[in-house]
Amino acid sequence: MEIAIIAHDGKKAEMVQFLNEHSDILHQKNINLVSTGTTGEKVAKSGFSVTALLSGPLGGDAQIAARVAEGKCDMVLFFRDPLDKHPHEPDILMLMRLCDVHNVPLATNPATADLLIKSI
Ligand code: PGA
Repeated sequence: MEIAIIAHDGKKAEMVQFLNEHSDILHQKNINLVSTGTTGEKVAKSGFSVTALLSGPLGGDAQIAARVAEGKCDMVLFFRDPLDKHPHEPDILMLMRLCDVHNVPLATNPATADLLIKSI
């Protein structure tokens, strides 16, 4: 299964903590991780193999949205920072909308990500 992980800058530390807390599940061979660019660097540094796409503001969220629309991505863990502004807000909204259109599980905070990852 493919799981997308995205973290805004203000949430990257929490995302790394999440990865470490769930490394046993995430290291399973049948899980492919994909990420936006800078998030992907952090995921790789944490010891996971990951396909890093473009950085979020350069289209990475849109790339993940396309994977959701194409049926390639099975779950999105999106560590959003609601207290910051984002130049790519339209792409973020598109990603969340397409998760709803295609009924793909979407977590937008660590508590929900925790519940989702424990469900697989
Ligand atoms: P980043 O993008 O992983 O390249 O920082 C995430 C985002 O801002 O959506």
